[in-house]
Amino acid sequence: MSLKAKTALITGSTSGIGLAIARALAAEGANIVINGFGDAAAIETERAKIEADFGVKALYDGADMTDGAAIAAMVANAEKVFGSVDILVNNAGIQHVAPIDEFPVDKWNQILAINLSSAFHGMRAAIPGMKARKWGRIISTASAHSLVASPFKSAYVAAKHGIAGLTKTAALEVATHGITVNCISPGYVWTPLVEKQIPDTMAARGMTKEQVISDVLLEAQPTKQFVTVDQVASLAVYLCSDAASQITGANLSIDGGWTAE
Ligand code: NAD
Repeated sequence: MSLKAKTALITGSTSGIGLAIARALAAEGANIVINGFGDAAAIETERAKIEADFGVKALYDGADMTDGAAIAAMVANAEKVFGSVDILVNNAGIQHVAPIDEFPVDKWNQILAINLSSAFHGMRAAIPGMKARKWGRIISTASAHSLVASPFKSAYVAAKHGIAGLTKTAALEVATHGITVNCISPGYVWTPLVEKQIPDTMAARGMTKEQVISDVLLEAQPTKQFVTVDQVASLAVYLCSDAASQITGANLSIDGGWTAE
């Protein structure tokens, strides 16, 4: 498969799953727009590395996913620079853990904006160009929490269930335009974010690293192994292929059996 002459815009791609998806799509020849927060020099290093490693063009846009106008402007600018946005990956996301009766209202609003509404704004801006070119791929990083719940994650679970519904609706609307719309639902993925929690949890619970991984982090994951960012990225690449042209409106689990229980 080649994605040469295509452009992929991946939100929240300065680290973790988003960066792996950006690099995997670049490896197939797509020009890339990366987005997200972080240290400016580190982001520039990653952007330049995508160009050097894969011989594609990569642009960084720092649009804040809580700002619908900034998201629309990012899509418009990418279309201006590269001529199109053919692949939109809605991946930016944050988490906050607290009981509903103590859940900070600003955190609720922020999570709904970043984890759900940003996908609506991105689709709204990118779909007209995809329709005009009769080809498009829209992929959102949902979560096992788009299918099942955990306590104390009300905003995250609501937003991710929302992504699953938005995916189905958008898929139906654009089904005859050569555009597919799907979401990927990972279980626990090994990212720096997860890795950083381990030393504190070891200290707090008096556990070994192995105990923290299997009894705390992977408690819900039957395989007792993390999903890797590269496995999620491979699924995203597959969804961009012609072989996947009849997969639309789907919510694809990659969760080590979590949601089978
Ligand atoms: P991460 O923290 O490494 O990446 C999140 C990205 O979103 C970063 O690039 C960050 O800068 C960006 N971001 C955050 N707020 C933003 C904002 N307001 N505007 C623009 N960008 C913003 O986390 P990750 O684990 O790679 O998560 C990526 C996605 O995968 C999220 O949607 C998350 O919910 C989902 N997910 C992660 C896991 C996991 O176990 N890591 C499991 C299931 C789903």
